[in-house]
Amino acid sequence: MGEGNGEGNTYNNFIDELTGIYNRQGFYQYTANLLKQHPDISFCLLYWNVRKFKVVNDLFGRESGDKVLIYLANALKEEFGKETASYGRLEGDNFVCCVPMDIIEQEKWVRLGDVSFDADDSEYHFYSCCGLYKIIDPEISVAKMVDRARVAMDTVKNNYLKPYAWYEESMWGSMVEEQQMNNAFRKAITEKQFKVFYQPLCRATDGVITGAEALVRWEKPGEGMISPGKFIPIFEKNGLVSILDHYVWGEVCRMQKKRIDQGLRVVPVSINVSRVEFYNPHLCEEIYDIVQKYNVPTDLIKIEITESAYAADPTLVQDAVRKLHEYGFIVLMDDFGSGASSLNTLKDLPIDVLKIDMKFIDSFDKNQKSAVILEAVIRMAKWMQLSTVAEGVETKKEWEYLKSMECDVVQGYYFYHPMPEAEFERLLNQSMTKYADIDRDIPELDDVIQDAFSHGNSKESMIFYSMLGGMGIFEMTEDKLEILQVNRGYYEVIYGEETSLREFSKSLNKLVKEPEKTVLMEKCQIAKTTDEMQQAQIHYEREDGKFIWLNVKVRYIGSRGKRSLFYFAIDNIEEIKKAEQERYLLDYSAALVKVFDKVYRMDYEHGMVEVLHSGESSMKIKEKYYFVNFFEKFHNSIEWEGNKNVASIIANRELLDQELVKSKNGSFSVHYKVKNERLDIKEVSAMFFKVELQDGREEYLCCIKKERETKRAVE
Ligand code: C2E
Ligand code: CA
Ligand code: CA
Repeated sequence: MGEGNGEGNTYNNFIDELTGIYNRQGFYQYTANLLKQHPDISFCLLYWNVRKFKVVNDLFGRESGDKVLIYLANALKEEFGKETASYGRLEGDNFVCCVPMDIIEQEKWVRLGDVSFDADDSEYHFYSCCGLYKIIDPEISVAKMVDRARVAMDTVKNNYLKPYAWYEESMWGSMVEEQQMNNAFRKAITEKQFKVFYQPLCRATDGVITGAEALVRWEKPGEGMISPGKFIPIFEKNGLVSILDHYVWGEVCRMQKKRIDQGLRVVPVSINVSRVEFYNPHLCEEIYDIVQKYNVPTDLIKIEITESAYAADPTLVQDAVRKLHEYGFIVLMDDFGSGASSLNTLKDLPIDVLKIDMKFIDSFDKNQKSAVILEAVIRMAKWMQLSTVAEGVETKKEWEYLKSMECDVVQGYYFYHPMPEAEFERLLNQSMTKYADIDRDIPELDDVIQDAFSHGNSKESMIFYSMLGGMGIFEMTEDKLEILQVNRGYYEVIYGEETSLREFSKSLNKLVKEPEKTVLMEKCQIAKTTDEMQQAQIHYEREDGKFIWLNVKVRYIGSRGKRSLFYFAIDNIEEIKKAEQERYLLDYSAALVKVFDKVYRMDYEHGMVEVLHSGESSMKIKEKYYFVNFFEKFHNSIEWEGNKNVASIIANRELLDQELVKSKNGSFSVHYKVKNERLDIKEVSAMFFKVELQDGREEYLCCIKKERETKRAVE
């Protein structure tokens, strides 16, 4: 720094002994001179503080702390030593500098106060926060300028997501407000104004409550209920959130312990851990201590870590998750998708559950793309052996959709709003669930049934749900069959490969209707009594009204009162069935040629006439004609008896149908004479009628019988 900053300075009481740069006095004096000498330059004052610097001293000793400070002083020297600038250490870990604005605009100082630090074979990272004050009025004292930069720094001091802030006049005001908030906080804690609410978490398949999330509220006298969105961010900034969180965790443990002692139903409760807390090196021990204190098993407390904490400092969070696992806690990644993390970045983070941010649920039915992402996230999570929770489920439609995507757990207003402890307890005591039917009255599900539904982790069920053909589970009650769950293959079998996600959602939880219902119910009864696999071919009506042939195999899983569960697997047997119908028709026509000479099928769809059977046994190849050719063939030589319009009637399905309706026996018969080239005369009768096949399709047949043949006398 051309203008000298310490070295060789004779005023030793201006120099910081430890780091060799200016101390407070030195900085004030030198900076005042600097500003006076360069009235043409616009300057800026920066104020750094190392976050949690105390930890360095506490954990690694003063000596290490000193090393960090010297390191930082050197960093300043290196950065600004050659500039028209001043810098110094005020005291502790507070550093300042005064530099021309144009340097600041390059923003290279943003991470200047960060330190990496090796100890005990691990690397520790310390980040600083910075306040900036643009020197508009060089006449005010440097001390005042430093104060302003400090006020700006204070606003981000506990906000790990914001490394710096520029000074604004309003900051003095908000400082006061925060101070008031702090005072109110202490009072609120001692007076127990903070209330823990519980929002149930439900199993996606049937809505059974399997857990809850603890959410704090502030019942402030005179102000009513304040939501955490209002006060948590403030307490995160000033560090009070840690006290609040500890209070909430204690409250949750207290309730769990009370219920355990009273022999009541207990479900795991997740607690939120503020992102700020991860900078506390004792966080995990502190959580564990609370849980221990109340003597609650660790599997009844789950820990929610928000994605933004992980994004801010992956290593800190990774270490915390590992420790929490050692204690036996299940860890959820909260708000997944709200920030920048992708599933890929999560692969190094040993979490157990992915909680999908409600933003996804919000927009999925407006936005096809987010539905695709949502499904991809759920699928990927499955491959990573993570189970999934979707939060913010507000409608039945959303629930159905998530269910069809095989999301495991749902949470949201559609099921329950967050509720006070007493209400939550009543709910838990009351019943197994609101959504699973009341007469499903046995308190715990059998293992088998549980297995059937919990397809989260086991390898078998992975295969079950994502690889083999169409499968699912249905429930049989006295008079109905309801499909509860299907895999993706189900849709592929029924709709073909190119089904859109939209169609998926529509058709879940559907009732199987007549006539296939009776067929299947009978098979289910047999499967249940014999415990053997049963199968049936059914003609199944799709959502779009189209019928398809399915082969359905059913296997009994278990029963609960009047309800029984079955696995089912389906194959599309459309082709086989078509061939079968064809055979049926051929057999039918084979019988007809015992009476008639030739049997044709009138294929109105393709405008063709096809020989199905012919008395002339030599004929092997199927003959087909277009209607036009078929009739033209006879046209000139044909001699109709009575109705001359026969050709046009039979060429037109509607006209033929009219004739069929008119007749008593449902057939349309005509007689005609044909002459061949040799003028032999054949008298022929033809009968047209409809055959109904099993699947409801109708075929039009034309049977022809030669009545008499008059050979022309040979000359
Ligand atoms: P979060 O952890 O993502 O919690 C879920 C929030 O979504 C809760 O808001 C909940 O009431 C709300 N919610 C639940 N279902 C629905 C729904 O169907 N639709 C909509 N729109 N919202 C739904 P809440 O209780 O206001 O909490 C807001 C945030 O405050 C929480 O978000 C969490 O980050 C934080 N928070 C709450 N309690 C605590 C706590 O004890 N400690 C800490 N550190 N943070 C907490
Ligand atoms: Ca949460
Ligand atoms: Ca969340």
